[in-house]
Amino acid sequence: MTDADDAAGGPWKSEYLALHDPVTSLPNRLLMMEFLAGALSSPQAGQRSLAVFALDIDNFRHLNETFGLAAGDLILAETARRIRRCVRDNDLVSRVGADEFVVVATGLAGAKAVEGLYTRLQAALSVPVTLPSGAVAYPQADIGIALSPLDASEAGALVQCADLALMRAKDDGPGACCFFSSDMNEELTGRRSLEGDLRRAITADEFVLLFQPRCDAKTLELLGVEALIRWDHPQLGRLVPDDFVPIAEKSGLVIPLGEWVLRKACDTISRLPDLNVSVNVSVVQFRGGELVGTVESVLKTTALPPSRLELEITESVLIENTEKALDVLGRLKSLGVRLSMDDFGTGYSSLGYLRTFPFDALKIDRRFVGDLDHSKGALAIVQAILGLGRALGLQVVAEGVETQSQLDYLKADSCDEVQGFYLGRPMTEEALHAFIAERRLVS
Ligand code: C2E
Ligand code: CA
Ligand code: CA
Repeated sequence: MTDADDAAGGPWKSEYLALHDPVTSLPNRLLMMEFLAGALSSPQAGQRSLAVFALDIDNFRHLNETFGLAAGDLILAETARRIRRCVRDNDLVSRVGADEFVVVATGLAGAKAVEGLYTRLQAALSVPVTLPSGAVAYPQADIGIALSPLDASEAGALVQCADLALMRAKDDGPGACCFFSSDMNEELTGRRSLEGDLRRAITADEFVLLFQPRCDAKTLELLGVEALIRWDHPQLGRLVPDDFVPIAEKSGLVIPLGEWVLRKACDTISRLPDLNVSVNVSVVQFRGGELVGTVESVLKTTALPPSRLELEITESVLIENTEKALDVLGRLKSLGVRLSMDDFGTGYSSLGYLRTFPFDALKIDRRFVGDLDHSKGALAIVQAILGLGRALGLQVVAEGVETQSQLDYLKADSCDEVQGFYLGRPMTEEALHAFIAERRLVS
């Protein structure tokens, strides 16, 4: 290295930056993979066990959102320090994603040592972090563990095993820890093949859109429908959204899929006078940036008046990138469509969101409605949400109404709209026509 190199930081500096994360000064994914590959191919590799720990701060986005980006960086740096303190000098700690860390621990002697390390990690990471402002953050870390040679002996495969174990830990979480097991691989294979099928299904016309009635809570008059997707899979039969929407979201296929839903829903409802339609929009459709253009084009081609379309959005959209979300929601609003917050009460339910974002309606999650008959707590929550809706001038829709007594509770507390099996199940377009015709006869 020359003096000139030194003064400017030199090639060492740029190499350092290429392999380290500036926030925590930890090695990045590239350096971790190099280190892991080296450790696995070393002559001693066969004789000792090596463990890969994948760690993720479960609620990091929320912490960032609550305390600000600078505090988020502090939490990451503190997490890095705590992890380092748990491991030995020749183990490697790396930051591999926004809130993801990987520890490569070499030479752990048996299961006891692995357990010892994850117990230390869990204890270290569950201590609250005090921020300079005096506020206290409670990060929650999930941990997935894979072992070599037991689970895999190649670097990429081993990290993938740890990631799969982490995914399982997150399902059990927060603060959970999980070892890799081979059934997780089967799950991954299943997901990959379903992803391939999903790609084909969009062109093969295998999706069906069902419509579930939304009614006025007092008069039970039919006001609109929610569009709900189904997939008629050639081998697996009819699949519900929980079976494939998460895969469509991970692979980005939810963007063309969401466009199909929007087009089909608006087209169907444009032929039914006075009926409104609501369509679920995934957080991934928000990231892409095409959503506003798609909605605009669909409204134009189907000639559905914008005021008859409502987009149902969950809180995850707002948590991810508040500024961008606010911009997209504002532009959707200026197209004249209605916006509702779906599954209200299940996420972070920050009241701030409700005041900041231009929502027209709130949908009370069906879990609370389902518990109305036998839980005083659920009744208190539903009443609180109804009060909140009234105070903010929002319409409140209760989902998952299954009994007359649930309907009675909701009516008594002046809920605006109701939806659920008691009023009507999700149905095909033909069944919806019959449903409307029957109501005309009755009224
Ligand atoms: P969601 O938006 O909360 O939709 C309501 C879900 O509750 C639907 O499930 C509906 O069938 C079910 N449901 C309605 N009434 C009752 C009731 O009285 N009791 C019970 N137990 N359940 C009731 P579904 O159709 O399986 O949809 C599940 C979720 O999948 C939806 O939850 C929504 O988040 C998502 N989803 C559905 N269609 C689409 C879509 O086109 N795009 C996207 N991105 N997500 C969709
Ligand atoms: Ca919905
Ligand atoms: Ca919902």
